[in-house]
Formats: sequence, C-alpha cells, structure tokens
Amino acid sequence: MNDYLKLQGIRKRFGDAQVLNGVDLSVAEGELVTLLGPSGCGKSTLLRCIAGLAELDGGSIELERRELTSLPPRSRDVGMVFQSYALFPNLTVSQNVEYGMRMRGMAPAARRSRCRELLAMVDLEDKRDMYPQSLSGGQQQRVALARSLAVQPKLLLLDEPLSALDAKIRKNLRAEIRQIQRRLGMTTLFVTHDQEEALILSDRICIMNQGRIVQEGSPEQLYTAPRTEFAARFMGSYN
Ligand code: ADP
Ligand code: MG
Repeated sequence: MNDYLKLQGIRKRFGDAQVLNGVDLSVAEGELVTLLGPSGCGKSTLLRCIAGLAELDGGSIELERRELTSLPPRSRDVGMVFQSYALFPNLTVSQNVEYGMRMRGMAPAARRSRCRELLAMVDLEDKRDMYPQSLSGGQQQRVALARSLAVQPKLLLLDEPLSALDAKIRKNLRAEIRQIQRRLGMTTLFVTHDQEEALILSDRICIMNQGRIVQEGSPEQLYTAPRTEFAARFMGSYN
C-alpha cells in the first residue's frame, strides 16, 4: 500500500565519494515526506537521481509500479522546484508556466486556460506578463511551483524551495505549499536542512546522514523518540 514511490538500494558515487549509500524509501500516494539532513548528506543528489538529472550507480526507482531509471527526465512524470528559482529569465511568467505544456504539444487554448488556473492558485494572476527578474524571490518560487505542477506530475520534488527566502515570506509560502499539496493530493518529496520546517510540513520525516536514511517516522515520533544521538541532535530534542 505504502509504495506509490519506491526507492530501493539507491547508490551514487562522484569520483571517490560515495554520496548515496543504499537509500530505501517508500512514499504513499498523496503523502508529503521530508528528507531532513545536514548540508552535503546527499539530499539534492537523491532528488536529481529521481528526476533523471543524474544517473544512478545502482538501485531502482519505481513510480506507480513503473521503473524510471532508464527513462529520460521528460518521460518520468516528475516535477521539481529548486532552491534558487530556476525560471527562464527571457520568458514571462505565463510563458514559464506554459513551457512544459508547449513542449508536450498541448493546444494553445488549453495551455492558456491551465496557466490561468495555476497562476490563480499561487495568487499571481496579475503578474502573468512580467519577467522573473521583476518579481520577488517568494513570487519567483510560486511561479516555479506553478510551472512544475503544469504538466500534472505524479510526483513533486521540492529541493529547499524556501531556503533563499526571508523568514516571513518563508512561513507564508510554507503554509501555501502545504495547502496546495493537500488540495491536489500531490505526492511530494520535500528536502530541507531546517528542522522546524520539517516538523510543521511533513506527514513523515526521513533523517538523512552521509548518504543514508538513518531514521524515519512521524514528526512527533522523531521529535520525542529519536533513535540515535545524531537524530536527537538534529531534531533539536537532545539535551
Ligand atoms: P545536500 O543536498 O544534502 O546538501 P548534495 O546532494 O548536494 O548534498 O551533495 C552531496 C555530496 O555530493 C557533497 O559532498 C557534494 O559535494 C557532492 N556532489 C554533489 N554533486 C556533485 C557533482 N556533480 N560532482 C561531484 N560531487 C558532487
Ligand atoms: Mg542540496
């Protein structure tokens, strides 16, 4: 039941560095699972492998029972939002949101109508003809979110989408992301190094260290019963 997304034995090496060291993870449909761990533990690499932006050395990735590892990124039904807003600077907001739909040959009228819906969802209808550089960081991330949802992915990958933002905007967008995720029932892997963010957003948290998941559980479980000193220190419940 718990295996809409199923990762088994994911391994990835860069030169001599074993960056992912046998990652196993199952995510249920509609669940928001957070990968929480210190900088350099392999979180982004894991997301990039799932999205098809990096090649695995070993292991398998199944999404809705379909093996993804040999598929190109565009055939994976996976949307991704990065820490630094990776919007196309020379395209307007609506052109950014419509980009993936256009690549997939969707008709202009359908594209425009879906784009309007998405911009309404992230509350940016009035910015549709602006260019990314004239938007705030928070607004750019909302465009990135709309763009990643445009092609109706089966899985959403969010790589520290809030870390570059100011505290207040971060909290607002955090709540907005959770609301949208719930409403769409979007299966989501959320990456962060911020414990508070993980505790507030997640259905389930996986603590990562040195290329492995060292403990997983509900936010309450991890906060009140960390199994290792590393997890305890990392959850801030160590004293
Ligand atoms: P995190 O997102 O948890 O901070 P990363 O997945 O970005 O960690 O990186 C994990 C490790 O892999 C780091 O030591 C990083 O330097 C290394 N790494 C990531 N990408 C590459 C790459 N393209 N080439 C070489 N080393 C890399
Ligand atoms: Mg990272």
